[in-house]
Amino acid sequence: MVRRYKSASGRHRLVNLIVVTVLVVVILVFRLVEEIGPDKSPGERFVIVRVIDGDTVDLKGGDRLRLLAIDTPEKDEPFYEQARFFLESLTVGKTARVEYESRRRDRYGRLLGYVYIDTLFVNKAILENGLGYLYLFKDNDPHSPQVQQLLAAQRQALTGKRALWSLSYEPENYYVAARDSYRFHRPGCRSVAAIKPGREIRFKNREEALSEGYSPCRNCKP
Ligand SMILES: [Zn+2]
Repeated sequence: MVRRYKSASGRHRLVNLIVVTVLVVVILVFRLVEEIGPDKSPGERFVIVRVIDGDTVDLKGGDRLRLLAIDTPEKDEPFYEQARFFLESLTVGKTARVEYESRRRDRYGRLLGYVYIDTLFVNKAILENGLGYLYLFKDNDPHSPQVQQLLAAQRQALTGKRALWSLSYEPENYYVAARDSYRFHRPGCRSVAAIKPGREIRFKNREEALSEGYSPCRNCKP
């Protein structure tokens, strides 16, 4: 009796083990498929069918892609139309190669990538022409070769006072950023009041903040 009981319990454990193993394998496979789905592979080629604004395109097959690490003017801002037209003329109807960083989609489900048409780095061309800003998030790598190229392109546009950089603005005595935030502000911005003690960085002018990879706050527009 004791032996039979033991053996039944052994079979039970074996069945449990198999069920758990199968479950783990199924979960891993699902995760892998999610991670390397066909439209998410780095270096994948896409046909661009439509431009939404200066930094967003629609791809053949239905996906939307946001150009990584840059930001272009919103609808009510100067150079919105120019930025949109520039992207359209470079990309629509063409096959693009897309490179990803660590995060391949944003919270809206849009792909996030660096776009290349042949050898042209489109994200960089936008900044070179002063039609957008470098715009980093905490999970971007500020030392990556692409970000370094974008930063250099922005410096050129700034020096040449191209497009956005030709606009007049009211200068402040200094500008402020929080460490690791990648945004800089006018001293009076409400975001500055929220910066924790010891986390504040100051820049003597706008150029200094921009050259270090900080981008203008969307609210105080420094
Ligand atoms: Zn601000």
